[in-house]
Amino acid sequence: MDEIFSDPSFDIACEQFRQIADHLAIPGDLRARLMYPKRAITVSVPVRLDDGSTKVFQGYRVQHHLSMGPTKGGTRFAKSVTLGEVAALAMWMSWKCAIAGLPYGGAKGGVRAEPRELSLRELERLSRRYMQEMIPFIGPRTDVMGPDMGTNEQVMAWFMDTYSAHIGHAVPEIVTGKPMSVGGTYGRRESTGRGVVYLIERAANFLKLKLSDRTAVVQGFGNVGSIAAHGLVYKNGMKVIAISDATSAFFNKKGIDIWRAQTHVMEKGDLRGFDGAEPISPETLLTIPCDVLVPAAIGGVIDAPMAEKIQCRILAEAANGPTTAEADAVLNQRQDEIFVLPDILCNAGGVIVSYFEWVQSLQSLFWKETEVMDRLFRILEQSFTAVLKRVKRDGISNRLASLAIAVERVMDARVNRGLFP
Ligand code: NAD
Repeated sequence: MDEIFSDPSFDIACEQFRQIADHLAIPGDLRARLMYPKRAITVSVPVRLDDGSTKVFQGYRVQHHLSMGPTKGGTRFAKSVTLGEVAALAMWMSWKCAIAGLPYGGAKGGVRAEPRELSLRELERLSRRYMQEMIPFIGPRTDVMGPDMGTNEQVMAWFMDTYSAHIGHAVPEIVTGKPMSVGGTYGRRESTGRGVVYLIERAANFLKLKLSDRTAVVQGFGNVGSIAAHGLVYKNGMKVIAISDATSAFFNKKGIDIWRAQTHVMEKGDLRGFDGAEPISPETLLTIPCDVLVPAAIGGVIDAPMAEKIQCRILAEAANGPTTAEADAVLNQRQDEIFVLPDILCNAGGVIVSYFEWVQSLQSLFWKETEVMDRLFRILEQSFTAVLKRVKRDGISNRLASLAIAVERVMDARVNRGLFP
């Protein structure tokens, strides 16, 4: 099984699981049932390009476990996507849903394609064909899709339309992260970034660290990174001194005008040519001394050597899997005690509000933004408090405590349901 999913991200996810399985003394046969995905689907996605030629893209969907309800997870469009990476992300989604107490298993999907290299029409054809290929395997009570890197509200609308055309009536509950006009929820786009900010505030409060005038560095200036940066500056009075995206990185010790950077990205598509800060090498960004470091881009960016070099008080893992297992060991041994907000807790805001969107779509009853945010923060508060309690009780790291709570919940559901036949 390991060979099928062979990928550095899957190795990280499995290593984390093994550590927690040891900690919880989970018996061997139950370990394999909890760790490996229930279903992994690979499809060829043929797409007619604008020049008349046809290109076949590789698409994936992994559903990690089905013990508590439908699976839930985003779809990533990126050239680097592999089945193993998708499987790792699906496993993390399971733990993320469990720690937030959502009635979901984890899933993830992906297509090996670079959306920026496609025209809008090509992107639409790719999105629709991918959804078409997935129809036999998904459903509002089976597996609910959402956005991830490289996909957005528009892609979700195309997914929903393709699925609905197949069923014969509108099925908004098949996807989350869709536009408001087709049943989206208030606050979904901002939910992950705002959740990250809420948890940074809670961590700072726990550490008795006043955030105003403190510094932050944000890697990845997309949906999550830019909204987190916005909240750190405009809600908490922090200085975001460095930001980056896949194209470039920038530093300004006085603090970057985040609104200006967001406007630049809106107008130009990425950070290239941003004139509100000095260009720096992207490799050095994570090592800049700061109070709060927010990796909000891709997985595996903090490996063991990088874990020695980062200089922050709070590491807020907005991205999925930014820290390798070896790096985690380094972080745990460092004398300066970096407070880690592990990814399955730190970026859970997205799936929590996705869950609210699914509930609203199923009921055709829509909530106000204040209600969405209030419920989001209440769930994050409960999850954060439960993690701190577990850290204290078991004397383990924040990451292990988060995983322990999550894995235990999934295990309980599995054990209670028993093994069929
Ligand atoms: P996005 O596509 O909107 O933004 C990603 C950003 O990262 C872009 O600015 C991109 O240029 C940048 N980037 C890519 N490679 C980079 C690199 N090597 N160095 C620096 N920057 C790089 O995606 P997003 O939705 O903001 O997701 C960001 C991360 O957060 C991902 O790991 C995703 O899985 C995770 N996440 C997202 C959500 C959500 O609701 N969007 C929820 C949970 C977790």
